[in-house]
Amino acid sequence: MKVNDIQEKIHQLQDQLNYWENHLKDVQNDCNHDYQEDSFYKKCIRCQKIEAIYY
Ligand SMILES: [Zn+2]
Repeated sequence: MKVNDIQEKIHQLQDQLNYWENHLKDVQNDCNHDYQEDSFYKKCIRCQKIEAIYY
């Protein structure tokens, strides 16, 4: 495999990663969150979104 081919592949994967991360954000933004609280964070049991808890 040539370096150019490898770089091209890396760019494709970065594009896909961006796409899926944005898709995940959209899903999590649409979620009617149902949080389960832990000591330092809370996690939505529906979309797995994690938010830190500050005291
Ligand atoms: Zn959620």
